[in-house]
Amino acid sequence: QRLAEIVGPEHLITDAAVLEPRLTDWRGRYRGKARCLALPKTATEVSALVSTCTAAGAAVVPQGGNTGLCGGATPDESGGAVVVNLTRMNRVRGVDAQNNTITAEAGCVLAAVQDAARAAGRLFPLSLAAEGSATLGGNLSTNAGGIQVLRYGNTRELTLGIEVVLPSGEIWNGLRALRKDNTGYDLKQLFIGAEGTLGIITAATMRLFPLPSATTTAWIAVPDAAAAVGLLNLLQNQFGAALTACELVSEVVLELVLRHFPESSRPLPERAPWYLLCELSGGGALENLDGAFEEFLAVALDVGALRDASLARSLDQADRLWRLRENLSEAQRREGVSIKHDISLPISRIPEFLARAEALLERAFPGVRIVAFGHIGDGNLHYNLSHPDLDENTALLAAQPRASRLVHDLVAEFDGSISAEHGLGQLKREEILRYKSPLEMELMRSIKKSLDPLNLMNPGKVL
Ligand code: FAD
Repeated sequence: QRLAEIVGPEHLITDAAVLEPRLTDWRGRYRGKARCLALPKTATEVSALVSTCTAAGAAVVPQGGNTGLCGGATPDESGGAVVVNLTRMNRVRGVDAQNNTITAEAGCVLAAVQDAARAAGRLFPLSLAAEGSATLGGNLSTNAGGIQVLRYGNTRELTLGIEVVLPSGEIWNGLRALRKDNTGYDLKQLFIGAEGTLGIITAATMRLFPLPSATTTAWIAVPDAAAAVGLLNLLQNQFGAALTACELVSEVVLELVLRHFPESSRPLPERAPWYLLCELSGGGALENLDGAFEEFLAVALDVGALRDASLARSLDQADRLWRLRENLSEAQRREGVSIKHDISLPISRIPEFLARAEALLERAFPGVRIVAFGHIGDGNLHYNLSHPDLDENTALLAAQPRASRLVHDLVAEFDGSISAEHGLGQLKREEILRYKSPLEMELMRSIKKSLDPLNLMNPGKVL
């Protein structure tokens, strides 16, 4: 009743049927229970909600678009939590084109932030397949990456300031729009990537960039992963910061997209084990980007650095290439359940990792299907495992801990990370204990304790 007084009774949901989709994660892997779901409109309402929950000893689970992939926005099964969903806080507070900044509320859908920037003649470069429903608050809280990290950095690097409701209910206004500010600890960075365990982000000031005047996209077939890394380096040498995206796609995953999205088509006539989807963009002097890219590809073909390539000749063709990439996650979902890994590695060691991992997995799980793709320009691979045969797949899924251990131990041997961009959530909360030093874990726990001594802010996630 007290929470209903804060947000208005129509914005406090207790109806089980309405709650259900909000208590299940995007992959359908976690199902939780909650007392209710509150939909605040302002930071002051969020503050009152959090204070009331803290006084009552009730856990708070922050939630945005609920597209996260680690169960971070799903409450546990106790039924005691209050889910605070930010999607009504969807106002763009302002764009300062000359300062290249946008300030938006946490519940703004990512695509709406991009649109608001574009309307002011600016680019907000954070871009990922879930951008039609993921929110800025969720992007910040998972430190989302996506397809343009190579050029513009991940969410952490795009953030200048944030406004947060702390577990105490206090509102910290850290909405600075400065590129230089050396006045002590950079507190905003604590909340970015914290997956809602340290407070609720209610707004943020993000960096913007000039809109590119030219963009060109190519789908490139390469004989092996080493050639993919080699070509990435050649592209960077030739085009520098104009290389805005470089995505790796295996033939195995391309086949899944073609099967589950019959309207899509193969971009090149011949199959290859791996492909790169590359985008160059820029302005001014770089306007003849198509010509420069075409010339580069012709030379690369001559020297055997690639097998074949298709340069998009229109926006529609470029869209069709990008749709192949964007539909990879959904194609896998339609194919059936699989074991997912979101890993990062030193880029130079990716070919060696892929060869070693495949040999290990094939020995342990004969016939395993490795569905690998990712943001190769950032050293980030989505390395997923399934079996084409349904019965064998059930057996593989039952052996998930063993399979993931094998992959993650190898990642650790290569000095990589077991979570590149999705976070830990519930999914990797225990697994991370094996790979981070006890000292690092203890530092994280002490920060959590000092901000949230009662452990009411998204408990059971990350730590
Ligand atoms: P939610 O799922 O609602 O929440 C995610 C986490 O953030 C939870 O721990 C939640 O408690 C917390 N949280 C949410 N809002 C707040 C807030 N305001 N304050 C504090 N904590 C909060 N990620 C990438 O990095 N790169 C990709 O390329 C990418 N592609 C994806 C493709 C698909 C098809 C899907 C489904 C997901 C993809 N993701 C990707 C996952 C990505 O993490 C999310 O899409 C997005 O960043 C989460 O936003 P959300 O609003 O849905 O957050």
